[in-house]
Amino acid sequence: MAKAVPQIDYERCVKCARCALWCPMSHLTMTLVDPADPERPYPEKTGSVCIGCGQCAKECPAEAIRMIRFGG
Ligand code: SF4
Ligand code: SF4
Repeated sequence: MAKAVPQIDYERCVKCARCALWCPMSHLTMTLVDPADPERPYPEKTGSVCIGCGQCAKECPAEAIRMIRFGG
């Protein structure tokens, strides 16, 4: 089980899709519709497994993803 999960700051997100492209588990998808700009959705966490690898946060050019740690 993952010891960290990504938290997305939508104020910072520029919708570049890098997080979704780089996620090895397809946990992030560009499917969260922005009512103000429906053609360009935000990333969102899905039901698939997240292994807590942090790749999404590493690839984000806007520092919009923070890995939240929990447990030991
Ligand atoms: S931490 Fe890894 S598995 Fe989880 S969403 Fe980010 S890239 Fe995907
Ligand atoms: S990589 Fe960062 S800026 Fe790009 S879509 Fe993901 S969270 Fe938004």
